Amino acid sequence: MIIAIDGPAGAGKSSVAQRVAEELGFQLLDTGAIYRSVALVSLEAGLSWEDGPALGDLASQLDIRYQLRDGQNRVFLRLRGGTERDVSGSLRTPEISQGASKVANHPEVRAALLELQRRIGRARPSVVEGRDIGTVVFPDARCKVFLTASPQERARRRHTQLVERGATEVPTIDAIAREIRERDTRDSERAVAPLRAAADAVQVDSSDITEDAVVARIVALASPDKRD
Ligand code: C5P
Repeated sequence: MIIAIDGPAGAGKSSVAQRVAEELGFQLLDTGAIYRSVALVSLEAGLSWEDGPALGDLASQLDIRYQLRDGQNRVFLRLRGGTERDVSGSLRTPEISQGASKVANHPEVRAALLELQRRIGRARPSVVEGRDIGTVVFPDARCKVFLTASPQERARRRHTQLVERGATEVPTIDAIAREIRERDTRDSERAVAPLRAAADAVQVDSSDITEDAVVARIVALASPDKRD
């Protein structure tokens, strides 16, 4: 039982996916955290983010476990033969965000992570959040959602988030919007598993509706008896 939620950066996937998982009592599989883990471990190992074969080899040794508790999805990482460690606090830095989007471009990395994602997702009913879940990882998902928001709205939300976090240098909304457009282009034009909506995905535009409404809509889509 898989609910796939794909979409571009800043569309609100993370918080929406987490709330849907909590509401349905499902596991939350944040696949971005897996790409971020590859970026983290390769940085620690001194590997280049351009070295596809070496990154693919590293990715094939990776195991990930999640623990959703008190509104936080903690990520535990283990390399084959090693001990498990909690990397939740290390995955969200700008450097690792950059690295994740670079390692995600290599076909060797994507191939190595495919089985890992499928194994975790098949173990329990899951809400799976990413870019290629409905198209590549779980093409038979029971419910597929492509969550979007206008670039302006995504930039505005990101700006508010930075201000609320007390960031010292907050770019203008226009500068953030430009950066978001660049990332959208990279993700969409990638040769392997680019960001795109599956033909059978329901498109949900969160620009002008509340997060509560988005969550309610996805929960309804996931529960056929409640479908409107
Ligand atoms: O979703 P999040 O921002 O954590 O993802 C980090 C990066 O991992 C993204 O920029 C994207 O390039 C990549 N990614 C991917 N496929 C996925 C999930 C994430 O390519 N299913």
